[in-house]
Amino acid sequence: MFICVPCLVNVPPDAYMMDFVFSEWEEDGIYDNRNGMDYHIPVSDSIETENYMRIIHIAVEMAPVAKVGGLGDVVTSLSRAVQDLGHTVEVILPKYDCLNQSSVKDLHLYQSFSWGGTEIKVWVGRVEDLTVYFLEPQNGMFGVGCVYGRNDDRRFGFFCHSALEFILQNEFSPHIIHCHDWSSAPVAWLYKEHYSQSRMASTRVVFTIHNLEFGAHYIGKAMTYCDKATTVSPTYSRDVAGHGAIAPHREKFYGILNGIDPDIWDPYTDNFIPVPYTCENVVEGKRAAKRALQQKFGLQQTDVPIVGIITRLTAQKGIHLIKHAIHRTLESNGQVVLLGSAPDHRIQGDFCRLADALHGVYHGRVKLVLTYDEPLSHLIYAGSDFIIVPSIFEPCGLTQLVAMRYGSIPIVRKTGGLYDTVFDVDNDKDRARSLGLEPNGFSFDGADSNGVDYALNRAIGAWFDARDWFHSLCKRVMEQDWSWNRPALDYIELYHAARKF
Ligand code: ADP
Repeated sequence: MFICVPCLVNVPPDAYMMDFVFSEWEEDGIYDNRNGMDYHIPVSDSIETENYMRIIHIAVEMAPVAKVGGLGDVVTSLSRAVQDLGHTVEVILPKYDCLNQSSVKDLHLYQSFSWGGTEIKVWVGRVEDLTVYFLEPQNGMFGVGCVYGRNDDRRFGFFCHSALEFILQNEFSPHIIHCHDWSSAPVAWLYKEHYSQSRMASTRVVFTIHNLEFGAHYIGKAMTYCDKATTVSPTYSRDVAGHGAIAPHREKFYGILNGIDPDIWDPYTDNFIPVPYTCENVVEGKRAAKRALQQKFGLQQTDVPIVGIITRLTAQKGIHLIKHAIHRTLESNGQVVLLGSAPDHRIQGDFCRLADALHGVYHGRVKLVLTYDEPLSHLIYAGSDFIIVPSIFEPCGLTQLVAMRYGSIPIVRKTGGLYDTVFDVDNDKDRARSLGLEPNGFSFDGADSNGVDYALNRAIGAWFDARDWFHSLCKRVMEQDWSWNRPALDYIELYHAARKF
């Protein structure tokens, strides 16, 4: 029960925000500080305005210059969203030889310093309107032709330490340093061991886990040393809360859903699709994209549903379910386009053989493209009717969000961020409405083919039998907001909370 108690608070004239916590009694009883974030009340007549923060991300991926998966997307799009709210956001990245330099504007040498037994050249440039510093140790560490896969612990450990040294030497004094996953986890403990008594003493370290599957030891250590930690969806945060790396630090651990950048993913301005579209002309726009997709891959130009799959091909992504979905779609008279690449050469080989077999048996109805191809992904998001994501576990997942931005209907396994963002049209009406949303896709439980069939059969059935309804669903998913609008505010709250220590 709530009771309203009017009270007067004397506020200093330069206070622009009041933070409240509530306690039942002075010493004990119920205590509510909004799970560590406090309740904020803005002061309307303050002579001061909010101080904007300086935030520096130290990361090993960043879209589109060095993207391997979702981590790269998030570093760019979260940074842009927070910058749009008035804060200063910069990124420090290794200068890989395989960097996609055409996406860097005004790249030039910024300085050079000696550290760790080598000279480190620092380049600066603009990526998607963000200032990015690229560190290039002259010992050739990042000149090995790839982001991951070569003695990475040592390379990234060196990168993290040199990034901190660069910040110190330049007296950047950021309010927040934000590091990501096992690869820049060392920032958390290197900062505490070497820099927390330095000129950077007031800096706070925030750590985000994008996937706990890799480098749990490093992640556990960063959890110990960071000031605040997040992972990329509320459900995944609950899924991993009992993990040894997380459990002792639950009080500083939050689940904040990822968003997508609506400017980077925008079917109205996308150069890789034939007809620009919004939710107003989604049917026409997607029809043109579907035709272009069918033409590109020699698929029959017939009026059938296309199921798209865009993924890293790893066990996490539910390989056996992906294979089953391909067969089931083809049996149901649909077409399939898969864009995927496997870091494991055995899986890559397996899919190459599957591609040969399927292209033979179902000629003109299926295409497997076994590579990484960003432009092609845009055409598949636009030209497909459905995007299937049958992950065994999924911290957040971006493909279902991009799919919806392009008016494609997600079909997902109910796990992690897929559960938080996809609401089944038949089973999740109440859950969606409790969040102010309408159902937006198809989902299934379990990890066997029955689950896939349950969702896919209903999806394809609706496409054939209820086309008007299906088109209204395409329009509806495009209208939903899966951008950073909300999550960026949550991150800013978190940064403020980190600074209170
Ligand atoms: P993860 O980070 O686990 O790979 P996410 O769903 O979080 O999965 O992010 C995947 C991102 O990578 C999306 O932007 C998706 O479009 C992109 N992607 C995945 N595979 C490919 C590919 N083969 N070609 C182009 N883009 C891809």
